[in-house]
Amino acid sequence: MNVTRPRQTVTRTLPARKRIALIAHDGKKEELLAWAARWQETLARHELTGTGTTAERVARTVGLPVRGLMSGPLGGDQQIGALITEQRLDLLIFFWDPFAPQPHDPDVKALLRLAALWNIPVACNAASADFLISSPWLESAYEMTIPDAGAWISDRTAD
Ligand code: PGA
Repeated sequence: MNVTRPRQTVTRTLPARKRIALIAHDGKKEELLAWAARWQETLARHELTGTGTTAERVARTVGLPVRGLMSGPLGGDQQIGALITEQRLDLLIFFWDPFAPQPHDPDVKALLRLAALWNIPVACNAASADFLISSPWLESAYEMTIPDAGAWISDRTAD
């Protein structure tokens, strides 16, 4: 069968302690550092990960433990996309730079696509990040709907 869009969904529950990814393009790193410093106390209650340079700079400047993946241009955005696909990430704070073309533009687009597909809350600037981080759902479990991956495969393999 030629299925082009998931037709069934399942419920996914985000845990109270969120797994949060932090990424900032070079032109936006200072802004992200300032944002993370403002929310240091809140962020400290969650599990942080990030692309290599962003993670290292947040860890050093803000004093938060951040698991560093590969640097973005070396594949870090794709690693975060994989975490999303495996339901191992709950929130994405991604300050991408609207003024600078990136060598890894296709990866950036791929990451944003996966976040949209898997219903991951995303903030792409400081104001949206303020809204996300102050949400009542940040520190409680949150039920949401995601595509049913099993049904998708069954549909596409049905005779
Ligand atoms: P970086 O990667 O944190 O290693 O700079 C971010 C990006 O450019 O996607």
